Amino acid sequence: MFEFEIQSRDGLARTATFATPHGTVQTPMFMPVGTQGSVKGISAQELTEIKSQMILGNTYHLMLRPGAEMVAAHGGLPGFTGYPGPFLTDSGGFQVMSLGHMRKISEHGVVFKSHLDGSLVELTPERSVEVQQGLGADVIMAFDECPPFPAEVPYIRSSLERTVRWLERCLKAKTRDDQALFAIVQGGIHPDLRQQSLDATVPFQTPGFAIGGLAVGESKDEMFPAVAYTARGLPENKPRYLMGVGHPEDLVAGIALGVDMFDCVYPTRTGRFGYALTDDGRLNMNSAAPRQQLTPIDPDCDCYACTHHTRAYLAHLVKAEEMLAPRLLSLHNLRYLHRLVERARAAIQAGEYQAWASQWGERYFRTQATAQAWAGPLPGWFARAVRGED
Ligand SMILES: [Zn+2]
Repeated sequence: MFEFEIQSRDGLARTATFATPHGTVQTPMFMPVGTQGSVKGISAQELTEIKSQMILGNTYHLMLRPGAEMVAAHGGLPGFTGYPGPFLTDSGGFQVMSLGHMRKISEHGVVFKSHLDGSLVELTPERSVEVQQGLGADVIMAFDECPPFPAEVPYIRSSLERTVRWLERCLKAKTRDDQALFAIVQGGIHPDLRQQSLDATVPFQTPGFAIGGLAVGESKDEMFPAVAYTARGLPENKPRYLMGVGHPEDLVAGIALGVDMFDCVYPTRTGRFGYALTDDGRLNMNSAAPRQQLTPIDPDCDCYACTHHTRAYLAHLVKAEEMLAPRLLSLHNLRYLHRLVERARAAIQAGEYQAWASQWGERYFRTQATAQAWAGPLPGWFARAVRGED
């Protein structure tokens, strides 16, 4: 179980299979986020149809409502949600720190006020593992402290040291052997702190490792060198998960640096706001032009929205505020990211990832509003990442 088998390599990028109790997934992969036990607007049947592989569940939300015991009474997230494949749950730490009205963070854990009813709730490494064991995901995450951005170096250092002590407590609390617990490397955007976190975390030899603490407000110029640096220091033969990252350009750049797993609410959130992801950038379905266009969002896409509907129809639904609009745009956006990683895997297998990623980027960034912000066809951070550089 949890065997990670690399199939092909191209530069730092790789394709692999990762075996879990609920199925074997192919990496690199994008994981849709099912915050409340549901990927917003998308049914379990549709997730299977668009070839989702692993779904993310949020410990923070599910422990407050309906509670881990109710999910466990269904045999875990697959029984509760009807999605039969693998799940990953986060530890709750990040969301307590970003959503909860935090009361106190101490060596023991975090006490916070529930955003639902104001009650005081405690989350510790032991409690996080207990809840995640109840939720029953195939991959569970260590309870960590994710410092905000920006944060002072001494604070980042003490929090990453605490994260290592919390990892030890998580591993001690874990009793199920059909769940893989991933450790999380912190350290902000500072190479020396990333190295310190790597040195302390890698020896635990967990079945996979996450790169945490990024996409919290820093620029891409700051984020991607940290991804490159951290990915390079992780074991070659274990999956690497870049947490909370998932714009199309981030996936293409992250894969070039050797990242295997991504998750983000972006495709469903931007779909609810009326945007469709394409190789030409983000298409604004709220604007006038799509209302006149008799073509699909993306003629190459095999999702239900693209194979059955014109842009004009979908833009009409957006304008009329029909509930089908956010559903179909979310469905397309998820399938777009799944197809993007499928194309990335094919390019890696063919040994032409760098050329494919550069070509994809030249088309994608050409139409971006920020195209003037850099010299040349690609932003510097993207070009460097595609070459496998910091
Ligand atoms: Zn589509």
